[in-house]
Amino acid sequence: MENCIFCKIINGDIPCYKIYEDDLVVAFLDINPISNGHTLIVPKQHFQDLYDIDNNVLNHILEIAKKIAKQITAKLNCDGFTLVQNNGAVQEVKHFHLHIHPYYKNSEIMKVEDCFKILNI
Ligand code: AMP
Ligand code: ZN
Repeated sequence: MENCIFCKIINGDIPCYKIYEDDLVVAFLDINPISNGHTLIVPKQHFQDLYDIDNNVLNHILEIAKKIAKQITAKLNCDGFTLVQNNGAVQEVKHFHLHIHPYYKNSEIMKVEDCFKILNI
């Protein structure tokens, strides 16, 4: 999709801190994180939102969220996490994505590149 920032990331036209990839999805760190390890799971095919996305891809994204959340918990020692998926007026990027928001009882926000180094060890 032309002018879609996430399609550009998927095509390699814009860099990202990619932590996971398979045939259907990529996952990368949010450039403006609300907490350390804030991750976006994004289908490679351009679906706009929850109404638009193929159900098989949606189910796959949830399975991958489970895997990635386990890794974030193990490597960054978060105390919990929340899954968020925005639609309509609260959705900034109109290419479906699932946020993983890690939660920490105590932690200072780190640079995205430092989180990336830890997650990719
Ligand atoms: P929303 O569409 O409201 O669910 O939020 C879009 C999210 O995408 C925000 O948290 C942004 O910080 C994030 N974002 C926007 N551009 C990029 C980018 N180039 N790389 C990583 N994350 C991004
Ligand atoms: Zn797109």
